[in-house]
This record gives sequence, C-alpha cells and structure tokens, in this order.
Amino acid sequence: MECQNSVRTMYVIIGRDSCVSCGACWNICPEVFCQNPCDEYSELVEAYRFCGSRAEGEVPDELSSCAREAASLCPLEIITIREEP
Ligand code: SF4
Repeated sequence: MECQNSVRTMYVIIGRDSCVSCGACWNICPEVFCQNPCDEYSELVEAYRFCGSRAEGEVPDELSSCAREAASLCPLEIITIREEP
C-alpha cells in the first residue's frame, strides 16, 4: 500500500538570542509572531509553539506565506523556515 501524505509541514525557528525587537515579523505576520512582554524579543504565538517552545513552532499551510514574508524582512535573518513533506 502506498503512503499518500501530501501535506507539508512548515517549521519556524526564531534565533531569539539575537533578536533586536524591531517588530518587523510581528507587524507583517501577527498570526504567527508576537513580542514577548518580558524580554521583548520575538516569539511564536502560543497556538503554534512546538512543545511549549517560544522559539520553535509548526505553522499551518494557510499562514506559510506570511511566515515566509516575515522571515525575509527580518534584518538579522534569524527566522529560519523549514518545510518537510
Ligand atoms: S524581525 Fe527579526 S529582529 Fe525584528 S523582531 Fe522579528 S525576529 Fe526580532
């Protein structure tokens, strides 16, 4: 029997240690990114955190383009996008 899994999963990783809180990511894609109220760095919104991690998460298909745009706008290029089938 053939495996028919055509759903792709998008993983987003934020290098929070290097974040300068410029706000580009959460302004362009607030569905995925927000500002942590304590350290003021970018983090994944709670709904998409991987095992509770603020820096790493799994984003649904419908938000993949805004997450990609946020990654491309980050001046420090610390948002990494990985897609796996
Ligand atoms: S765009 Fe980059 S530097 Fe700016 S807040 Fe987001 S993660 Fe931090």
